[in-house]
Amino acid sequence: MPILDASDTADALPASRPDDGDRWQYRQRVFDPATAARDETLFALANGALGVRGGLEEMASDTDRSFHAGLFERHRIDYHERFTGFARATDTRIALAEGKRIRIALDGEPLDPSQCRWLDFERRLDLRNGVLYRRSRLRTPAGATLSIDSERFVGLDEDLLAIRFEVTSEDFAGVLTLESRLESGGDFVAQGDDPRIGISGSGGLETLEWEADAETARLLQYTLHSRLAVEAAQAHLATGLHATTPRIEDDAVAHGFTATLRPGDRVRLEKFVSYAVGAEGDDPQLTSRNRERLSRAQELGYSALERLHADAMAEYWRGADIEVDDDDDTAAALRFNLFHLMRSASRNGIDGTAAKGLTGEGYEGHCFWDTEIFALPVMVFTAPEIARAMLMYRHRTLDAARAHARELNHPAGALYAWRTIAGDECSAHYPTGSAAYHINADIAYAIGLYLDATGDLAFLRDAGAEILFETARIWMQIGHSDPLRGDAFSIHGVTGPDEYTALVDNNFYTNRMAQRHLQRAADAWRQLGDSDAQARASLASRLRLGEDEIDGWQRAAAAMRLAVDPALDIYAQDDTFLHKPHWPGPLHVPGRPLLLDHHPMTLYRHQLCKQADVVMALMLAGDGLDRERKRRSFDYYEAITTHDSTLSAAVHGIVAGESGHADKALHYFRQALRVDLDDLHGNTAHGVHMAAMAGSWLGLVWGFGGLRVVDGELRFAPTLPAPWRSYAFGLRWRGRRLRVEVEVGGVRYLLLEGEPLCIRHGVDALALVCDHPQQCALIRGDADAR
Ligand code: BGC
Repeated sequence: MPILDASDTADALPASRPDDGDRWQYRQRVFDPATAARDETLFALANGALGVRGGLEEMASDTDRSFHAGLFERHRIDYHERFTGFARATDTRIALAEGKRIRIALDGEPLDPSQCRWLDFERRLDLRNGVLYRRSRLRTPAGATLSIDSERFVGLDEDLLAIRFEVTSEDFAGVLTLESRLESGGDFVAQGDDPRIGISGSGGLETLEWEADAETARLLQYTLHSRLAVEAAQAHLATGLHATTPRIEDDAVAHGFTATLRPGDRVRLEKFVSYAVGAEGDDPQLTSRNRERLSRAQELGYSALERLHADAMAEYWRGADIEVDDDDDTAAALRFNLFHLMRSASRNGIDGTAAKGLTGEGYEGHCFWDTEIFALPVMVFTAPEIARAMLMYRHRTLDAARAHARELNHPAGALYAWRTIAGDECSAHYPTGSAAYHINADIAYAIGLYLDATGDLAFLRDAGAEILFETARIWMQIGHSDPLRGDAFSIHGVTGPDEYTALVDNNFYTNRMAQRHLQRAADAWRQLGDSDAQARASLASRLRLGEDEIDGWQRAAAAMRLAVDPALDIYAQDDTFLHKPHWPGPLHVPGRPLLLDHHPMTLYRHQLCKQADVVMALMLAGDGLDRERKRRSFDYYEAITTHDSTLSAAVHGIVAGESGHADKALHYFRQALRVDLDDLHGNTAHGVHMAAMAGSWLGLVWGFGGLRVVDGELRFAPTLPAPWRSYAFGLRWRGRRLRVEVEVGGVRYLLLEGEPLCIRHGVDALALVCDHPQQCALIRGDADAR
């Protein structure tokens, strides 16, 4: 019997399209088993630490897992030839004990939804309050008709999943059993031939203790190699149901609730699942944390908890809402992206923010530069407290970055790992792993942006300065003043963002970002001296850092090699890139990145970009560079870019707009915007693409809105894409709330909260005062004001 009955959902929207009527809802009216794994990603809920994929409670699924950002297993990396400094182990996020399952049985007969016929189905992620709703009706093979309705959310500040699950009998008379399960988890996904997924490894979770009483259960587990402890616990509130004795199985505990139903009867189960993760031996704290959370949940009940959660979500949207008036549902898609981004961004100051957030296990749950260059800027302007916490994770892992630097023979300073969970380098492929030194400059960039946007000197004192200084030191060890290049400061043997080129000298992106990094570190030295001379003195003595070293940073920044090819008059991606032949075949095969079919060295030998590299530098640090050369560079590199990384499109869109290519700006913006909604890279099932989602916000605000921070000053240069009638976005900046509204008639800047502020509209300075909107003309598309 087919699970999908389209005749009953005649008005169904195509799957994955937000409903036109309400741009705060992401809705699906058909359950399609073929796209179930992708939909688990799209309907996932998270809070920066706990992530719960969006499957149906009563339906078994191998991919419907839950994760915690701090729970991973460690695997040794076995090389046939291991050289000094190669990464020794990799960490992989593993599935938590799964708590969302609620099995149904009728008169003792288990109900298998895949054998039933759906009569109605709708699930709806309410982006405003962060609750996932489902209304459904199904008919069993034996002819019983039931309604199954559920709601659930993940607490914003606590690792708690709350579910309300209701079953109504339409025509069934008999015994209904709900079996609420906590299943042991611990598995991870094997890689197969795709390096973007995960690894096949050993280890996992070992269960130490099960405990259960009539309505609660707890499960204590340890990882076998990384020696982490996790306790999962569940509790219930039942209405119209009788609890039976819980059953402990090999790999699960099952709480049974029964009711004798007549047609029209409805029963309700509220289920709360709490997780606590810590180090081996932390069990008593983990248990008491869970116990406290669960008893509070049982005391308040689902509805009261949901109201508190909705209030916290409303506070976020107050600073972050976006609007677009067009015919393409752009606002709904942007809100959807911003929702996932905000929900997966880590906020506890301990865990990192992974490339797939907490929505799936792609890339093993690793954090990359995606965090600082894409996700964090969005948080800086919409939730600066989350941005701070994200940076505190880097501070927490600074010692690991120091150790990584020593592994690579750097006697001083710190080099952040390219891909990591706990701070250690997890990439076994050093040419596109450890060699991506630009990660240091990316983190420094994010710190600078955060400081500009908040003026948070306490952060500079407690964490920011130390990271900036320790990471800046590395440039002086891999670069030197090259007499053959006019004494320019040259950086050797690195890989830039374009991973189809590796181990080069003077990668343009790396050099430009290192230049900014060195300048920022020198500024931070002065700023900290001015704001807290004692703190600077003690940091300097701890790091053995003095004025001489700072002077060296400034000299290196001033002399940084930013090569220009004399014939093409464009920025050269590196010292040899433009000498190579072009790629002979097609650049783009849909759903098939070149890396899946070609040895890396084949790719390295061509002028071929996986993603924005020079173009990326033009976006992040394009101020002060020659405008015509920037345009020519964009045109040149765009023509040889495959966009095999989802990070690429948004960046190209922003720089296309700046270069006067309005059509391309919109084209690339849409690619980033719909990357997961339309599964453009065919792998949304493994988790959302956080960087691309963030890229869509950047496309709106930095691209069309023209936002840049130059020398600590907030600048805008808004343009309006031709098919749009208007758009607006909210921003937070140094304790203030701003709103920018753009329409055909011009731009309105509103200071909604906070002290007066000076910004720049194009080249004009503009003073903003609360309640006095400022109206300006639109900036021309070729952005002569940037
Ligand atoms: C990209 C990297 C990125 C990683 C994780 C790769 O495909 O080339 O730049 O950090 O994906 O998103």
